[in-house]
Amino acid sequence: ARRLEGKVSIITGAAQGIGLATALKFAQEGAIVVVCDLRQDAVDAAVAQCQAAGAQALGFALSVTDRGQVDSMVAEVKARHGRIDVLVNNAGITQDARLQKMSLQQFDAVIDVNLRGVFHCAQAVVDSMVAQGSGVILNASSVVGIYGNFGQTNYAAAKFGVIGFTKTWSRELGPKGVRVNAVAPGFIETPILSTIPDKLLGQMQEEVPLRRLGSPAEVANVYAFLASDEASYVNGAVLEVSGGLTV
Ligand code: NAD
Repeated sequence: ARRLEGKVSIITGAAQGIGLATALKFAQEGAIVVVCDLRQDAVDAAVAQCQAAGAQALGFALSVTDRGQVDSMVAEVKARHGRIDVLVNNAGITQDARLQKMSLQQFDAVIDVNLRGVFHCAQAVVDSMVAQGSGVILNASSVVGIYGNFGQTNYAAAKFGVIGFTKTWSRELGPKGVRVNAVAPGFIETPILSTIPDKLLGQMQEEVPLRRLGSPAEVANVYAFLASDEASYVNGAVLEVSGGLTV
């Protein structure tokens, strides 16, 4: 049986990388997929892929940093489908620099998308989920949100912050039937890694006990599990998907 049959699922940053893999996995599992990303053409392409997988899908070109756009998207999804079952807060960016070099623009840009954007989307869906007495919110953290990383002051702060959201919301919303969990990927082969030199990528793989990068689909599988009723007693967890990077 498909694990997400009829579940109305909003996925941010779903036009590429882990978000796209998650949208496709959710589509295969029977979800009604709501694709959100910055560019209309990329959103349309992802929606078409979900539909080709046999799912109902709709798309919104928006920035999670824009509260008005997020609220309108949620209102339209509710008007069309009457409910919201799952939110995957996946959209994220990097703008790396050491503390001594990081500009305020770099700091603010990453906090705005990776932290404030997660807050916007969660706040936009929470009333519906509480009213239903059910729902799942999944937040993209990172191993960097557990251990920190050279050159990622802004990103690490946001990814630690997302774990703070997860633990806080799991306490607030658990009693109302809404589960909240975080996923902490390690090194996953997506465009976000494109700025890392090949030599460094090689070294990074050597640090992983499984000796390879992860695929977007391997993270998507974990989101699908956490969104499904198979994870019905998983709440407030931070699930690392890193090939054992940090053991
Ligand atoms: P990616 O860059 O391939 O995809 C991110 C998507 O988010 C893009 O399609 C982008 O357009 C979209 N996006 C960016 N800003 C947005 C905004 N303001 N509003 C809406 N959409 C926006 O990244 P990815 O590697 O697939 O990463 C997805 C998530 O997983 C991110 O939160 C990232 O921090 C996290 N993560 C990735 C890795 C990795 O190794 N790839 C590791 C740990 C955590």
